[in-house]
Amino acid sequence: MNLKKYFIPLTALFLLAAWPLSIAAAEPGIIWGGPPQVKQVALTFDDGPSPRCTAKILSLLKQYQARGTFFVLGAHVERYPWLVQAAIRDGNEVGNHSFAHPRLTKSSELSREQELERTALDLEMLGYRPDHLLFRPPFSAYDGRLVAYLAHTHRQMVLWGIDSGDWRGLPPAEIVHNVLDRVRPGAIIIFHDCDEKEQADRRPTVEALKVILPALKAAGYRMVTVSELVAGGDATKRSSSQSESLLKQPVKPRLDPAGKKTISGSL
Ligand SMILES: [Zn+2]
Repeated sequence: MNLKKYFIPLTALFLLAAWPLSIAAAEPGIIWGGPPQVKQVALTFDDGPSPRCTAKILSLLKQYQARGTFFVLGAHVERYPWLVQAAIRDGNEVGNHSFAHPRLTKSSELSREQELERTALDLEMLGYRPDHLLFRPPFSAYDGRLVAYLAHTHRQMVLWGIDSGDWRGLPPAEIVHNVLDRVRPGAIIIFHDCDEKEQADRRPTVEALKVILPALKAAGYRMVTVSELVAGGDATKRSSSQSESLLKQPVKPRLDPAGKKTISGSL
């Protein structure tokens, strides 16, 4: 019997079967969404701020009484601090998305820490010291070392349940479709208000939000920050442990375990 020809399919089957277990068991500090019984969602915006569209997004959020969570790059915070200040002033939340958007699973320990700490310092210099320090890894690439470092520094990793797909350069109608067809209570939705090179055109994101925000509002969704979402509408929980109300992996995320740059653009 030629066992070799069964080896690859059997290994693949084993890995597929073990995948959900490994995520659920090994990653206790990762936020994927909020409680599904509360009709609210968290809109998140990565890679900014950007003078080309962050202000437009802030104005749309305000128009529809929504608050968002901005996962910023330190390099952009240093260039456009007033945009971060405007986001905070409007009641939005700000999280750390590294300094220059490297793949942290490929970085040395020192440069990984510098990426996180320089951005944290940039935000502190703006007077931003939230109760909960949120972090979203570039390219959604993370490993045990990163998870351990975040736990050690009292930070929480935030991923998402719904990808708007705006980073692929989709037209507004497709971004709208990606969000509204999948939206559900407790979802964290990922958008982008810039990219790491400041080259991407995010006008489709802004145009899509002009449809998504009123539609979610009309459907009865509250649009809240990640911390509010995780607290499940209970303000007293905001200052207690977020991990109590964490919900893990409502939707299979797009991970990059092999470290390959599978798709151009960024997450
Ligand atoms: Zn990103």
